[in-house]
Formats: sequence, C-alpha cells, structure tokens
Amino acid sequence: MSTTESSRRPLMAANWKMHKTPAESAAFIEQLRPQVNDAACDIVVAPPFVCIPAAVHAAGDSVIAISGQNLFWETSGAYTGEVSGAMLQAAGCRYVIIGHSERRQYFQETDETVNRRLQAALKMALIPIVCVGETLQEREAGQTEAVLSRQFEGGLRGLSAAEMQNVVIAYEPVWAIGTGRTASPEMAQEAHAFLRGCIARQFDTRTAAKVRILYGGSVKPDNVAGLMAQADIDGGLVGGASLQVDSFLALVKAAR
Ligand code: PEP
Repeated sequence: MSTTESSRRPLMAANWKMHKTPAESAAFIEQLRPQVNDAACDIVVAPPFVCIPAAVHAAGDSVIAISGQNLFWETSGAYTGEVSGAMLQAAGCRYVIIGHSERRQYFQETDETVNRRLQAALKMALIPIVCVGETLQEREAGQTEAVLSRQFEGGLRGLSAAEMQNVVIAYEPVWAIGTGRTASPEMAQEAHAFLRGCIARQFDTRTAAKVRILYGGSVKPDNVAGLMAQADIDGGLVGGASLQVDSFLALVKAAR
C-alpha cells in the first residue's frame, strides 16, 4: 500500500552507536544547534548512554531531541548493566531506538524482547524508533517480505492504534548498514510500502498513513535526495554519516 498522505513530518535521526565521549557529544550538538533552528524535519540524536546528560544539556530548548539507543523493560531492579525507560525519560530523552539489527545480531534480541521494550517505552511516553530489516541471505532467498511481516507482527504486537501512531519504524536492510551499500530508492520504497501495508492490516489505513517510516543503511549526503523523494520514505536513521556535523546537517537539510 502506498499513500500520498503528506502530513507526516520528516525525521532525521543520528545513531552514534558506540562513538563519542560526553565532551565530543556536547561539542557536536553545540555546533549543530544554531544551524537547525528552521529545519523542516524533526531531528533526533542518539548518543551512547553515558553521553545523554551532556547531549541533553547541549541541546537545551532547541529543536534537537535526544534518544536512547536501547532500553530495558523493567523500571528498576537487579539488572546489572541495563538502563530503563524511566531513567531515559528522567535524563531528558524523548526517543529510544529499539531492536537495531546490531542488538539482534550481537545481543540476541528477538521480536519478543523488542515488543517488551516497545511496551516499556510507550509506558514512559518515549517515542520508539523500532528497527526491522532483512539480511542479505534472506533477501537473496526471496524472504524479505516474510521477514518484515514476522518482525512487524511480533515486535509491534498488542498496541492500540493510538499507540501505534506514536511509533516510528526504521526499515534497515542489514546488508546496507555500515557497508556503503545502500538500497536503491525503488527497492527501499517497495519495502516501505510493504511495511505501511502491514500497519494498515494490523491497525487501520488512517494509522498507516500517519506512521513515519525511516530508511537506514548507508544514507549519505549524496544518496539522500533519491531516498527522500519516495512517497513512503519519511526520513533516515543514520550511523556513519551522522558522526560529522557537516554530513548530518546536509541530511537534515535534505529531509523536507
Ligand atoms: C544505523 O546505524 O542504523 C545505520 C543505518 O548505520 P549506517 O548509516 O552507518 O549504515
């Protein structure tokens, strides 16, 4: 299902993964901040947990929102090494990334744990950015849609339509993340339209028309325009090209 709905505000999100210190995070945001006052998109920066206070302070009352890169579903307790949604919210985060393929690949996250994290995020009024995407092997075996359906149905189970409207989906083909190999705009559009169809089936067409679906996977200043021109691509979740102010700024400017 495709849609011509134009009311979705674009969103450009920086996923810094395990990069930058608190001082480097603050310096980045201080440099970005005066250049994005009139941005035509929402701007999200997801630094490592220990950099969140510095990032929130540097962002101040600007248009830059800070995100966690993950959360645990319990509020507090004996869970060494984990960070809860309540903690992210108290630290000033407005968003949280859930189910990134690196979490699925290296930290054994499943659609079920994605769903538990998602429920916890919504309870804490954090805007979840839920990542889905197929591996190269799955794509080559013609399983892309089956994988996306399974991740969507399992990861987004049990939500009301009103809750779903606050969720952001990120389509991130695993083979395109950090590889320099981007999905073509047409290939990405096809997957985004398919995901919008999943939302319509599991919820309704009104909800499907409202949910923002980001593309992630080697988005760069020189390929962002073609991606953003697609009807169902509402922005980007960006790793490598979000680590320098100039390239992230170019992406922000292209998101309109
Ligand atoms: C990501 O971290 O989600 C990502 C898409 O990384 P990159 O832009 O480096 O491919």
